[in-house]
Amino acid sequence: MVRWGVGMKYFETLFKVNPLKVELDAPLVLQETAIIKDTVDDKILLRNIFVNVANQDIVAIAIKGTLKDIFGENVKYNGQDEFTYVYQDIICEPNTIFGNKISIDLPRDARKIEVVIEKVVLLDGTVWKSNPENIVTIQRQHEIEASDEFINSYDTNSILPIFYYVENDSCWQCTCGQVNKVSDEYCKHCSREKKYVKTKFTKESIAKEYQDFIYRKEHKEELQEKLVHKVFPDAKPEEMLEKPKQEVAYHKDSRLHTDGFQKYKHVIINITILLLAILAILIGVFLFNHSTVAKSRETIENITDLFGTQLNTDNLDENGWENKGDYELCDISGTVCTASITYSKKVQYVYWFSDDECNQTEYENFLDELSRVLEKQPQEDDTYDYRWEFDDYYVYGYKNPNNIICAIFCSVDEDDW
Ligand SMILES: [Zn+2]
Repeated sequence: MVRWGVGMKYFETLFKVNPLKVELDAPLVLQETAIIKDTVDDKILLRNIFVNVANQDIVAIAIKGTLKDIFGENVKYNGQDEFTYVYQDIICEPNTIFGNKISIDLPRDARKIEVVIEKVVLLDGTVWKSNPENIVTIQRQHEIEASDEFINSYDTNSILPIFYYVENDSCWQCTCGQVNKVSDEYCKHCSREKKYVKTKFTKESIAKEYQDFIYRKEHKEELQEKLVHKVFPDAKPEEMLEKPKQEVAYHKDSRLHTDGFQKYKHVIINITILLLAILAILIGVFLFNHSTVAKSRETIENITDLFGTQLNTDNLDENGWENKGDYELCDISGTVCTASITYSKKVQYVYWFSDDECNQTEYENFLDELSRVLEKQPQEDDTYDYRWEFDDYYVYGYKNPNNIICAIFCSVDEDDW
């Protein structure tokens, strides 16, 4: 028995049921029926809780049912065998609960009731009437056992998943709680596809994915290292992470030789003035272009823009993405060797390698072009040569000892890995 207080009154719940019968296509769902006792006034009261699942207000509800006493014998209501009641002059808004504050007086010996919704009047005047043929028996749905963080990353639908999927001969119940006809391919409430819900929201699949999620969270660094090994199978970890110092000539070995400097001083000064003029023009052109380029590279999804639509992350499995593919990047032909995605289906890693060896000039041109595309100058990086930093992703660029250029696109949102 549950007790709760409202002011000085005390109510005792004598009977409570969450109906397992639902009428498909009904604008209203009966969620709970209870018989309660007002112990101060010694009254027996009925309280129903409904949910408006229509897309407009409901202004009247007619219910009916049969009342029984503690022995299971029928109890008359206002002299009639059948219990009937009309909620009218009401406003029940879409997707809201209604009825929990309305108590209906019952005969003193009523202890059990089965309520069904008979008619509903919608705001536009439409009268919905029950059709017993559409009534189906549903199953009790259990809430998903997993952290909110996991659930948020598991599915991107704006209507959050709540329950495990269940089905029977006449209906299937979505993770959002909606009851759908067995023939419905998509959920009426959240539009998730039945096939998708059926495979993704079973207790077994969630348990497996959740374990995996926890494992990945706890072993983030280890997994990251494994991923790097996939790309550099032959490298020892020290070599892999060591910065190839001799390769970092970019911007660094342009020191002027001093031999004969005095002799050609005036020539050098003239050339310098000329170069400065050219530089000023280039800066002007750059600033003009820069201001007209769309500022669209704010998220890691936009990395895919660099490779075109072929870099499709739709068909990835939990192991990430192993389809090696040819992608030209900044005018150099190359291959996407490894890529993986995060839990929320964003790009986690994309490793791109040039197909051919590149000399220093080609490498520097590549870096310049990448900077232009990313609309940003790189910083020097301790592990790789250069790093372009953005709010939610990094791009790394370097040339390995075999003169292969590598670009790595990497999400920085580690909570999402
Ligand atoms: Zn749904």
